[in-house]
Amino acid sequence: MPLRLISLAVVRASRPFVRTLKTAATPKLTDVLIIGGGPAGLTLAAAIKTSPYLSGLSTTLVDASDLTNKVASFYKSPPTHFTNRVISLTPQSKKFLEQTVGVRLMEDRIQPFDGIYVTDGCSNGTLEMERESMGYMVEISNIQSSALNRIEELKPSNLEIIDQTKVVSIEHSETDNLNSWPIVHLSNGDSYKTRLLVGCDGFNSPVRKFSNIESRGWLYNRFGVVATMKLEYAPFKIRGWQRFLPTGPIAHLPMPGDSATLVWSTTEPLSRLLVSLDSKQFTMLVNAAFVLEDADMQYYYKELEKGTITTEELFKDISFRTEQVYSQLDSESMIDEIYPPTVSSVEDASRARFPLKLSHADSYVAERIALVGDAAHTTHPLAGQGLNMGQGDVESLLRALENASNRGLDIGSLLALEPYWADRFPTNNMLLGVVDKLHKLYSTDFGPVVAMRTLGLNVVNNLGPLKEMMMGKVSGPSS
Ligand SMILES: Cc1cc2nc3c(=O)[nH]c(=O)nc-3n(C[C@H](O)[C@H](O)[C@H](O)COP(=O)(O)OP(=O)(O)OC[C@H]3O[C@@H](n4cnc5c(N)ncnc54)[C@H](O)[C@@H]3O)c2cc1C
Repeated sequence: MPLRLISLAVVRASRPFVRTLKTAATPKLTDVLIIGGGPAGLTLAAAIKTSPYLSGLSTTLVDASDLTNKVASFYKSPPTHFTNRVISLTPQSKKFLEQTVGVRLMEDRIQPFDGIYVTDGCSNGTLEMERESMGYMVEISNIQSSALNRIEELKPSNLEIIDQTKVVSIEHSETDNLNSWPIVHLSNGDSYKTRLLVGCDGFNSPVRKFSNIESRGWLYNRFGVVATMKLEYAPFKIRGWQRFLPTGPIAHLPMPGDSATLVWSTTEPLSRLLVSLDSKQFTMLVNAAFVLEDADMQYYYKELEKGTITTEELFKDISFRTEQVYSQLDSESMIDEIYPPTVSSVEDASRARFPLKLSHADSYVAERIALVGDAAHTTHPLAGQGLNMGQGDVESLLRALENASNRGLDIGSLLALEPYWADRFPTNNMLLGVVDKLHKLYSTDFGPVVAMRTLGLNVVNNLGPLKEMMMGKVSGPSS
């Protein structure tokens, strides 16, 4: 039987009837029920169907979004522009996707980069990390649609993907028995009883809520503004640029050719302003943010907020101040060494903002439950680790399930699942802590703190082994 991609557009119209009718029906049985068809959920589904030890497990994936048409078509007829949700994938994550899971990513939409140049917006602190193919800029839709394509290639008879459908409620099949198989009720009226329920369902994870696993953390009170940008020319040196402003870091990351992607983490009011500006003003601010002093930027934000500066005036003022900065450099060729290539325009409708938060679940497993990806942890994007942690989770859970299966264990039992959380929790906890400290360290322009962090950054920059170790943490060991 071919892979069943069930679209519920038709069912929706008559949902109340279907729901009443089906709630009473016996739940369908499935070995593994994955909630969430984001990058983590689809990678896990493809990995299970690729694994020689697990492919026999009946598997169901449920997602609220339109995987069948919208996501799958990204692979078949990709858009001409780059989408705005782009992440930096580590070589390890890419290798897992391609070599273990057999996913063929759309290579022509991926940009490898050979380092990152980090500066402090309040001082002369600099960190230049160079390594060939240190990471890969990849659209999230590329990962999702390539994983869907892999699933289609495998044509598994025992995988059902149910999209445009929400989880409505989850219960234990036997009241007061936490070991009993969970039953998940869906918005189409169907219900599924499962040996193992995997929550790949993001920050607000219904599976985590059902499991009663506590998740701790806080909102950063910051938003990440993303955009797809066109550059004046394709860069010669392909690397990422990150500048820590007191309001949050701004990152300018390469995409193929003369495209680039932006993640500008900033305060809530400023993020609102940035997405509301006309695109010329926004483009000028992005260029200015990498060159000018924070005091200049604060002046522009205030004037734009009040509407007391025209686009023409903004352009003249930024050009004048930028030229002044450039004129202080020893040689003109330094411009390309220490500042990112100039942005010439921003793709229409590509600007969006996302709230940033830290969260970490106390455990990733309970009887018959595993949490994966953002359902288990979320982090500030300044180190580009969120999805990489999720891909690490998928890899580790896959290993734990394969081991359990080989040993004849029940894959939903804690005994089978605990090695997964024992493996991933410490690694993720360390990364979440480091990123959180970095965010705090750089969210101030208080003199002594700036002096201390500048010293630290410059020391790291000049100490080869320490720098190598840091790059190893961010992008994996050098090959
Ligand atoms: C601005 C920004 C920049 C980032 N940059 C990077 C980066 O450079 N590198 C990196 O590694 N990470 C980065 N991240 C983090 C990364 O985007 C996330 O970690 C990743 O997308 C999470 O994937 P996921 O599959 O775990 O969850 P999600 O993508 O959140 O997927 C969850 C899925 O669950 C489904 N779902 C939820 N509830 C239900 C329900 N009730 N019923 C049915 N379906 C449901 C949703 O439809 C969704 O498809 C960044 C994040 C932000 C905000």
